[in-house]
Amino acid sequence: MLFMRRFLFAILAFLTINNFTVAQGKLKAIKAGKVIDVVNGTVLTNQVILIDSNMITDIGSALSIPANAEVIDLSNAVVLPGLIDCHTHLTSQPSGDYYGDIFRKSPIDIAVTAHIYAKRTLEAGFTSCRDVGAPAFVDVALRNAINNGEVEGPHMEVATLFIGSTGSHGDLNGFSPFLDWQMPKQMSGVANGVDELRKQVRYNIKYGADVIKFGASAGVLSEEESVGGPQFSQEEMNAIVSEAKMWGRKACAHAHGAEAIKMAVKAGVASIEHGSLVDDEGIKLMKQNGTYLVSDIYDDDYILSEYSKLGYPEKIINKEKMVGKLQRENFEKAVKAGVKIAFGTDAGVYPHGWNAKQFFYMVKFGLTPMQAIQSSTINAADLLGWKEKAGSITKGKWADLIAVENNPLNDITVLEHVKFVMKDGTVYKNELKH
Ligand SMILES: [Zn+2]
Repeated sequence: MLFMRRFLFAILAFLTINNFTVAQGKLKAIKAGKVIDVVNGTVLTNQVILIDSNMITDIGSALSIPANAEVIDLSNAVVLPGLIDCHTHLTSQPSGDYYGDIFRKSPIDIAVTAHIYAKRTLEAGFTSCRDVGAPAFVDVALRNAINNGEVEGPHMEVATLFIGSTGSHGDLNGFSPFLDWQMPKQMSGVANGVDELRKQVRYNIKYGADVIKFGASAGVLSEEESVGGPQFSQEEMNAIVSEAKMWGRKACAHAHGAEAIKMAVKAGVASIEHGSLVDDEGIKLMKQNGTYLVSDIYDDDYILSEYSKLGYPEKIINKEKMVGKLQRENFEKAVKAGVKIAFGTDAGVYPHGWNAKQFFYMVKFGLTPMQAIQSSTINAADLLGWKEKAGSITKGKWADLIAVENNPLNDITVLEHVKFVMKDGTVYKNELKH
């Protein structure tokens, strides 16, 4: 018995010493064969990236590596800043039971699986995301647990409850009025009129919103009639955006229709989400105002091939058929006109971790591979208000970086196979063969 106790103490002592060693070894040096420099739009070779705890402290070709630094050899790989997805819904993805997802799941069901999707997103190379709409503040709980190191996932900026008018994309439509809404009123983002909307913005912020998301127009994956029609008045949109600003928050608008896009841009949103039916006037306005376009141009493929099998109503699939092709064409028009583009996929509409599939379409529809990468790094960081913290491999930023085996500037789809992921100086994945 005494022997057992001594033995256990010995193991404990060993573990303690080992942990101590790990804690002391906070300095890391990455030897990078190639680095995508997204700030200058170039490729650097044979770089050393120095990391102290969670920060990049230096990068250069002639840096000496401190003797106590842990060396990570990525000399046969291409290193990029951690990717950022500006439009995710980490709390869910379709289970294959459309009505079950709506009526048989509570926010508690959603909360117990959200961390799985967060981990998948991180392992796919996305070290940050802007999560734009989740039920019952599950996104706040997830963000906090990640920040506390309790679960693995990307840095998150969260919108909490999607703010929508009665009967809007953000409401529950197509059912009996006796069903109304599936959760308590305090967990609904449905609000109307300037006063209610200002109160809703305050409420979302009170319980943890970093950004405000509202539905400027009707949507695709909901049963209300049109896709593009405005769902708030100009006065209401102005109120949402100005209230958010007062509390130091940016606002973003879900907007498919041309009119709703223009109204939201005039109200001062930081980004238009989807932007499917944007017209020339809208493109001009977005350019003038520096409004980002966050256009989810991959998920059309997934919706059209999978959603019938996943039990979605015909009505919703028909809406997608109407919008998907136009969205890609209009994305190309906006790119040509010089509208600022930030990468956002609507992950959760398709399986989490597939985010990088969208790069192929962004290149197909007008961006150079470098611009596509910039949309998911420096541009995305700018949209999130994290320009000083994320988006490039630069001194003073978070040690968030990824590596792939081949140059994504030659073939953008290599980003679908990220082999190495570091977030905040911690390695979460390393599948590189030396
Ligand atoms: Zn969305």
